[in-house]
Amino acid sequence: MLSYQHAYHAGNLADLHKHALLAAALDYLTRKDKPLSYLETHAGRGLYRLNSAESRKTGEAAAGIARAEDEGWLPADHPLMRALDAVRATHGTDAYPGSPLIAAHFQRPGDAIHLAELHPAEHAALAANLPFATLHHQDGFQMAQAVCPPTPRRGMLLIDPSFEIKADYANLPRFIEKIARKWNVGVIALWYPILTDGRHQPMIAALQDAHPDALLSEVTFPAARPGHSMIGSGMFIHNAPWGLQDEAARLQALFRDRA
Ligand code: SAM
Repeated sequence: MLSYQHAYHAGNLADLHKHALLAAALDYLTRKDKPLSYLETHAGRGLYRLNSAESRKTGEAAAGIARAEDEGWLPADHPLMRALDAVRATHGTDAYPGSPLIAAHFQRPGDAIHLAELHPAEHAALAANLPFATLHHQDGFQMAQAVCPPTPRRGMLLIDPSFEIKADYANLPRFIEKIARKWNVGVIALWYPILTDGRHQPMIAALQDAHPDALLSEVTFPAARPGHSMIGSGMFIHNAPWGLQDEAARLQALFRDRA
């Protein structure tokens, strides 16, 4: 059963880290005049409302993107801020883009977008928010296995599970290994939570063993609520585009000094 709903968490500090790196990666990838595919295994609904009851209930966006904007954490020309401006211009001032809409911001004619979302209501909202994307109402891991290597062959896969299924931690290194073998030029990014009990660490150790050249970007921040186990955000990126290492270093310093 799927109970996780990203509307409660959209625009929090973990999203800020994940979406800043995603936007920077797509900005680099789309500088080259060659078509690309963007794939996502766990898409969510694509568009969130920061004035929604869900967002106001947790206050996570207020402590995340809202605070970051008030305090000028990212420059106005940062790829994420440019995507955010464009989404607000179309969807209103309380709009916050999920990763699919951020990817859509960078899409050019000839590029492809494949999105998987299993939850029926989230999938229906995603279809309404991104009618131009190729949507897969199925398990995202199966979608990626079926679509990779995609056409166009250049591109990026984002894996952003809610980690409700504890076996995800054990299964992800094998899954990434398989996709990397099928799609040797693909940029493969995995988001993961940094947890007080270190549950994520064996997964990261296995990924680093298999892909020693991959980029690992981790930032830490105070727990959203007392007793909450997530105290940071991580992105593992295989075949990271040139320049993303510098963006990761900037984000690490930013979160260290300001979060
Ligand atoms: N990537 C989104 C973003 O950054 O805007 C957030 C995605 S949210 C963390 C995870 C989503 O995965 C939820 O909407 C959930 O319904 C969906 N989901 C959970 N298990 C799935 C699976 N096996 N395949 C596809 N979607 C799944």
